[in-house]
Amino acid sequence: MSALNVAKFGGTSVANFEAMSCCSAIIEQNPQTKLVVISACSGVTNLLVELASGIQVPEERQAIIKKLAEIHHSIIEQLSNTTTVAAEVNAILESVASAAEAASFQTSKKLTDHLVACGELMSTHILTQLMRERGVDAQRFDIRQVMRTDAHYGRAEPQVEELKQLAQKQLLPLCQQHVVITQGFIGSDEQGNTTTLGRGGSDYSAALLAESLQACGLEIWTDVPGIYTTDPRIAPKASPIAEISFSEASEMANFGAKILHPSTLVPALRHGIPVFVGSSKEPEKGGTWIRQEVESSPLFRALALRCNQTMVTLRSAKMFHAYGFLAKVFEILAKHKISVDLITTSEISVSLTLDKTDTSGGNPELPQAVREELAELCTVEVEHDLCLVALIGNKMKERPGYAKQVFGALETFNLRMICYGASAHNLCFLVNSNDAKQVIQKLHHELFEQA
Ligand code: ASP
Ligand code: MG
Repeated sequence: MSALNVAKFGGTSVANFEAMSCCSAIIEQNPQTKLVVISACSGVTNLLVELASGIQVPEERQAIIKKLAEIHHSIIEQLSNTTTVAAEVNAILESVASAAEAASFQTSKKLTDHLVACGELMSTHILTQLMRERGVDAQRFDIRQVMRTDAHYGRAEPQVEELKQLAQKQLLPLCQQHVVITQGFIGSDEQGNTTTLGRGGSDYSAALLAESLQACGLEIWTDVPGIYTTDPRIAPKASPIAEISFSEASEMANFGAKILHPSTLVPALRHGIPVFVGSSKEPEKGGTWIRQEVESSPLFRALALRCNQTMVTLRSAKMFHAYGFLAKVFEILAKHKISVDLITTSEISVSLTLDKTDTSGGNPELPQAVREELAELCTVEVEHDLCLVALIGNKMKERPGYAKQVFGALETFNLRMICYGASAHNLCFLVNSNDAKQVIQKLHHELFEQA
């Protein structure tokens, strides 16, 4: 393992001049930080996604491009030497305008990725210049040279082996000489087309790069000082967690604690790289360390909430005492690259929830073609407006009576699709979206506020 540290800054951390200056100060403080991975400035990816959806009215497109220009130029204006960086950003904005026009004729996932990647391409130009003006030897690097992915636009899969080789050859030597500033979220396929790793993918990029460069640490800087027992905006008594294991943190990320992209911890875990999560605005507040070995493993660690869930229930009397039904269902889902989150089964039915994190965003939907194929096997029922609540902890399945404590607190709510017992680290279920906040508040009160 090298003494190289990777730091990633999210959209709010690079939202404006002050925020970017905080990032630079954090980077300057740790001489081991040689690779900096950043997101687009806050709000930019959303605007680009809007353009990619194909806006017909030219004035509406121009209004969005104007907003994009304002976000970036308001930072550039505060730099001392603006000529080069302004020209670079303007060139990207021009390509945004022509791609947005193309999208107004015909949208595609490939074009969407080409467009949304522009956010990170711009923010990295600006941060590099800002850091140079603070006296840092910063060097911008286009990550598409090494972040090789497949061509699954909107949710591209990184090709880990190729990425490693390319990063060792092209990126490592640069990191040995400079502080390298690069883009999260984006990559390129074999043909050189731009791809993206899915919304929030910068964390994942940073982790993959940390793994490829055999880094000794990965810092994820965001707008909250670490991981909490639950979202403090929902339960104000939520408390920060100083240290958490990879397994617990992965469960949290998977089950909707928005703090980390769900795939982030996979490369970090593969390579045993400790991950720090903290707030770039308040670095002095500390944060959460995610490690393989932790000092305490409490029965209840945290509560996560993920809204906007779609539940699909498939029923068939033929399933009764038959074999191969589930295999057929999953074959259809796999063929259409539909990722399933939760699953519960009974003798004649199976319920599942869909996962939706690709770059085009929107509600998770079961595409019509999939629905039709499934309908040949069974009846298909789709329900929306559900939220997934996950209780994360340790050795829960070995502890008699804990379910009573959990469900007892939630007596008055209608809980669906309870998944209990398969994992030692989580218990989860769906609730109506109207009940979600109250469920979290009640459960947090019962399990985390009693000591
Ligand atoms: N800018 C991208 C997004 O907003 C990627 C990221 O922030 O991680 O989803
Ligand atoms: Mg983000």
